[in-house]
Amino acid sequence: MVSSNNSIGHTMHQWASDLYPICRSITGNGVRQTLDYFKNILPDLKIHEVLSGTRAFDWVVPDEWNITNAYVADEQGNKIIDFQLHNLHIVGYSEPIDKIIPFEELDKHLHSLPDQPDAIPFITSYYKRRWGFCITDRQRQALRQNPEARYHVKIDSTLAPGNLTYGELIIPGKSEKEILLSTYICHPSMANDDLSGPCVTAALAQWIKNELSNRQNTYRILFITETIGSIYYLSKHHQEMKKNTIAGFVLTCMGDDNVYSYVPSRTGYTLADQVAQQALKHHTSNYIAYTFLDRGSDERQYCSPGIDLPVCSVMRSKYGAYPEYHTSLDDLSFISPVGLKGSYEVMQKCIELIEKNVVYRSTTLCEPQLGKRGLYPNLSTKESKNIAFNMMNLIAYADGKNDLINISEKMGTYAGDLEPLVTALLEHNLLEVVDQ
Ligand code: ZN
Repeated sequence: MVSSNNSIGHTMHQWASDLYPICRSITGNGVRQTLDYFKNILPDLKIHEVLSGTRAFDWVVPDEWNITNAYVADEQGNKIIDFQLHNLHIVGYSEPIDKIIPFEELDKHLHSLPDQPDAIPFITSYYKRRWGFCITDRQRQALRQNPEARYHVKIDSTLAPGNLTYGELIIPGKSEKEILLSTYICHPSMANDDLSGPCVTAALAQWIKNELSNRQNTYRILFITETIGSIYYLSKHHQEMKKNTIAGFVLTCMGDDNVYSYVPSRTGYTLADQVAQQALKHHTSNYIAYTFLDRGSDERQYCSPGIDLPVCSVMRSKYGAYPEYHTSLDDLSFISPVGLKGSYEVMQKCIELIEKNVVYRSTTLCEPQLGKRGLYPNLSTKESKNIAFNMMNLIAYADGKNDLINISEKMGTYAGDLEPLVTALLEHNLLEVVDQ
């Protein structure tokens, strides 16, 4: 359980540490184990299974992949590459093999990064059958010193009709309007991409359910596999999601201590974009604003033409933009309790801004007389003048059409800062809430 805000970073980091050893992929038992873990944290999480071969728009759910063991052994039987030591050593979705082969042939199935000689790369082949091993380039160069050697290559894997597994949690609010939180659980042992995303999402889900008890909105929270998971889910739910979703976020790469990142939705001007930028601007020291051209996760599906959901991303180091990305260097030391907590808090701010984003209407024709209600400061200081200006601006834009976020943007202020003014004006019946 999330007990206090001080410990939330450590709680999320512990979850990531527990889940780190599991060999996840887009299907298979690693995904199930990961979802079972989150179901312990979120008992209402529903786990769904979709049969291989199921059509989803232009895609087909692939066969399920599971792996128990894999290694390359030298002629003396020494395992020189061992899946048990790091699950990144195997190319994801490798087909089974049990063969003695010369180095020349083995080398065609090896993957390494010459520019990062001590990193094991993350490589997959979901839609073309092949096998392969990933190693450090340092090890590969050492193996090349002995080109005549022969090796025993063994992969104990299954690639057969099964299921695609995903988790779905609906937390109802007073309204049918929905906020989408979508995260993915398809990467093997790497921390920022992807364990940080599901861990922050789970902590937010607990907070929404237990502490955001007056919530207006309904929350649709998805733990899916990237691409095929979101495409399948949209193929089933896009109509209701289009009808109800007012804002959505893809949660990934949220655990390191580096500068924040923001990837907008396709239009770049949805409620999700507005609150993400406001929260980042007012609650972080700096952030990198990317464009939709820099997208790379499930916003590709959520924002695709015809789906058109208002979905953006708030991250720390963005996928593809840090050297540790998709390598063994993206390990538990790359993420921190402080990094995770920072992302969690920015997302809380986004959610709070949306929850409080109401359309108001001024109740008087022409400006109300604030002075007779004690709302106009009778002592004129710079500070009190600002409050008065802000109050008048708020009333001026409260036309029954602009919501609070839009008004705050027009005023160049943080929407959260307008709350005390809204409260005062509501108390004096100078504003009324317009039902949307
Ligand atoms: Zn990734």
